[in-house]
Amino acid sequence: MKFYSTNGQAPIATLEKAVVKGLAEDKGLYMPERIKPLPQEFFDNIENLSFQEIAYTVADAFFGEDVPAEDLKRIVYDTLAFDTPCVKVTDTIYSLELFHGPTLAFKDVGARFMARLLQYFLRKEGAGQVNVLVATSGDTGSAVANGFLGVDGIRVYVLYPKGKVSPIQECQFTTLGQNITAVEVDGVFDDCQALVKNAFMDADLNAHMQLTSANSINVARFLPQAFYYFYAYAQMKKKGLADQLVVCVPSGNFGNICSALFGKKMGLPIKRFIAANNANDIFFKYLQTGKYEPKPSVQTIANAMDVGDPSNFARVYDLYGKSHEAICADISGATYTNEQIAETIKEVKTETGYVCDPHGACGYRALKEGLQAGEVGVFLETAHPAKFKDTVDRILGADIEIPAKLQAFMKGTKQSVPMTKDFADFKQFLLKE
Ligand SMILES: *Cc1c(COP(=O)(O)O)cnc(C)c1O
Repeated sequence: MKFYSTNGQAPIATLEKAVVKGLAEDKGLYMPERIKPLPQEFFDNIENLSFQEIAYTVADAFFGEDVPAEDLKRIVYDTLAFDTPCVKVTDTIYSLELFHGPTLAFKDVGARFMARLLQYFLRKEGAGQVNVLVATSGDTGSAVANGFLGVDGIRVYVLYPKGKVSPIQECQFTTLGQNITAVEVDGVFDDCQALVKNAFMDADLNAHMQLTSANSINVARFLPQAFYYFYAYAQMKKKGLADQLVVCVPSGNFGNICSALFGKKMGLPIKRFIAANNANDIFFKYLQTGKYEPKPSVQTIANAMDVGDPSNFARVYDLYGKSHEAICADISGATYTNEQIAETIKEVKTETGYVCDPHGACGYRALKEGLQAGEVGVFLETAHPAKFKDTVDRILGADIEIPAKLQAFMKGTKQSVPMTKDFADFKQFLLKE
C-alpha cells in the first residue's frame, strides 16, 4: 500500500517511509491510497470472532501488503493484550471502555501497535537510532512512552505543557527513565505540537538525527484505532443492538474518530457518528458554518481534548472529498462547557452508578441529547476516571479508587528537561543530544 499526502505536494510514500517519517515533506498527513472494503461474510460472522481476529482482518487491509502475515499477526496480538468491553450504562447507551491497557487510556492501542511496527522496520533494515518526538496534552505521552519503553534503537522525547497535565498523567511519562526523556514546555499543548512540527521540518536537525512522530499524525498510530470500533460493533451485534448504532467519540486531535470513519468506509455498519468536544469547538463550528477556523486552545477539565487546531481534520476533510455536506451527513457535533461536563459526571453517577471521566462524560451527554428513536449509542470512555482523580473527586465529592496499575507509576521519581516554547531553544537541546 502506498500513502499520499493530504497537501498533495509530496511524493507518494511506502508504509515504511510513512511510519518512519510521520509527516510528509509538504507538512501534509499521509493517507492510504486505497481503503479496501471488507467482505460481507466478515460482518455476517463478526460477533463470533475474537478481538484479535477482528483486528487482524482490519490490519491486513491496511498493512498486509507490506508486512508478512506472521509478523503482522504477532504485532496485532501483542498490541491487544487487553480487552475493550462495551458496558451497559442505560438501556440505549453503552460505554466502550478503552482504559484497560497499561496506561489506562485508548492511546495504548495505537502507541503499542506503532512501537511494534516501527521496531519491525528497524530490525528489517538494521537501521540506526530513531528518535520519536511526541507532543502531549496528557495521555499520548504516557501511552507512547510506555509503548516504546525499553525498545532498542528508539529514543522518545515527550513534550508536555507545564502545569497543564494532571499529576497522575505526568508521572506516567516523567518517571520511566531508560530511553524516555520528558520535556516540560513553558506553554500550552499547541506550543508543544508546534515545536514537534518545526523539528520535523528543520534541515539541521534532520541531518543530525532521524526523527519521527508518534502523534496521531502517524499512520501507524491512528489507523489501528479502527480495531476497537469493529469489535464494539461485534459486541453490540451479539446483544442484538447494532441495527442503528450511533458512535460518539470525545475528540481533540480527531485521530480517534478519523480511524472510525475509515472503518465506515471499509463497510462497518455504523449509522452515524457524533464528535463530542469540550469548549474547544473548532470542529463543531466547522459543521455549522463550513469554515475551518483554528484558534488557540483553551484549558478545560477534559484536557486531552484541549486542541485548537486538530491535526486530523485534514484527513477527515480529504476522506470526504473536501465536501462539507458529505462530512455533515456522517458526523454531527456537540460542545460542552466545564460546568456541563461536571454536571454530566454527577448525573450519570446518580442515575446509573457509572463513573465517567471528563472526556467520556462529553460522549455520554452528546448521546443522551442526540439519540433518536430506535437508535442505540456507544460512547468511548477514552480514559479511566482515576487519571483525572482530582477533578472527578471534586465533582462527585468522592474518593475514587486508583487502580494498582496507575499507583505503580506514582512511586517513581519525576525527571524532566525544562524548555521554553521558542523553537531555537528546543533545536539547541536536540542538537546536543
Ligand atoms: C487523546 C484523548 C482524546 C482525544 O482523542 P483524539 O484522537 O485526539 O481526538 C480524548 N480523550 C482522552 C482521554 C484522550 O487521551
